[in-house]
Amino acid sequence: MTDESQAMSGVTDGPLLSVENLRTTFYTDQETIHAVDGVSFTVSPQQTLGVVGESGSGKSVTARSILGLVDDPGRVHPDSEIRYHDPAFVQTVARTYPDRVTWAGEKTARSASDAFVTIESGSGEGSSVTVERGSVNLVAAPDDVTRSLRGSEVAMVFQDAQTALNPVYTVGNQIKELLDIHQGLSGTEATEAAADLLESVGIPDPKRRLSEYPHQFSGGMQQRTVIALALACDPAVLLCDEPTTALDVTIQAQILELLERLQHERNLSILFITHDMGVIAQVADAVAVMYAGEVVEQASVDRLFDQPRHPYTQGLLQSIPGLASEGDRLPTIDGRVPTPNEPATYCRYAPRCPEAFEECKSTHPERVPVDSANEKSGWMRAHTAACLLYPEDESLEDRLQMHHNFGAPDESDAATTAREDD
Ligand code: SF4
Repeated sequence: MTDESQAMSGVTDGPLLSVENLRTTFYTDQETIHAVDGVSFTVSPQQTLGVVGESGSGKSVTARSILGLVDDPGRVHPDSEIRYHDPAFVQTVARTYPDRVTWAGEKTARSASDAFVTIESGSGEGSSVTVERGSVNLVAAPDDVTRSLRGSEVAMVFQDAQTALNPVYTVGNQIKELLDIHQGLSGTEATEAAADLLESVGIPDPKRRLSEYPHQFSGGMQQRTVIALALACDPAVLLCDEPTTALDVTIQAQILELLERLQHERNLSILFITHDMGVIAQVADAVAVMYAGEVVEQASVDRLFDQPRHPYTQGLLQSIPGLASEGDRLPTIDGRVPTPNEPATYCRYAPRCPEAFEECKSTHPERVPVDSANEKSGWMRAHTAACLLYPEDESLEDRLQMHHNFGAPDESDAATTAREDD
């Protein structure tokens, strides 16, 4: 993990999940769409990272990439890193694939070029290895590693409960199937566990409800059931993809309260995706703002709302109903999110940006600290923005140079580009 990706964590223990330079591209006959283009962030233990942006910004593709659920013609680039840091999981994978392990620090001699397990501290060899700190890079790992992570370690709460639930099976059957696959529970034991799950998400009379079908549930209860399904395998991380978008505000508030309670009860880390800044203010500890496949600003939630620095974030915040003075017309951001169908050699927000200047059309802004003092405080507490206006205490010439340097391709980029060209 780099210092940059530590910026979102806010804790000293290190992240549970870290995403580094994630690039997910869809290749069609007509065009190449860079849906996720160099995204980095971390999700810390028991904290909530909010990911916010308009439709088409790449939020959901980011979540699906983490779980290996990107469908054809999409592909996660091999130089991306999605690292899961739970020591017990890392240990299991390290014992299964002993020849794919790299030892960091004092034991670098045992590195392997195609390793996807990194052990930072631990001991032992092969099937007796013990891991204290380490990570598994899911992008490079075989499919069975990602499958073993999905549900049991990292689970997803989908946006549309009606689609997520199977209409021809009872709610009980759907939960018990997961309990059988992942925990080997059956019969009375599975029924009891399924009822407990429904009760934990606030569904009354859970034993009777198990025998009902999804259409017999209200919208709010369906969403609670989707959360129960996600919790069936006791994951450590929940990826919540717009879980309240289809709900009215009263039910939305109840679901947000439920997630907060479950987070505390189960020590969950949450990646919460939404287009709603009001929801972000309620749920998030830290925020990553996405635009056209990129993270354009990230900071703690307090800092982002107090001092938004990227013009896009400022526009999003100004367009929250209730923040404008009474009688004022609510500001909006004109235009739409562009389809990121060409390499980012310029600022993708420029056509909509009220502060755009000439260089924005020819220089791609990289995520940099928003001021030099911020940079000196280290990336751990960094507030960063991908905008040529920053760091604002530098001259324009120095800023442009800085963004060029941050964005300079390294050798692995060149190798990847060469592979794509073949
Ligand atoms: S780089 Fe330029 S166009 Fe892009 S957000 Fe900053 S000022 Fe606006």
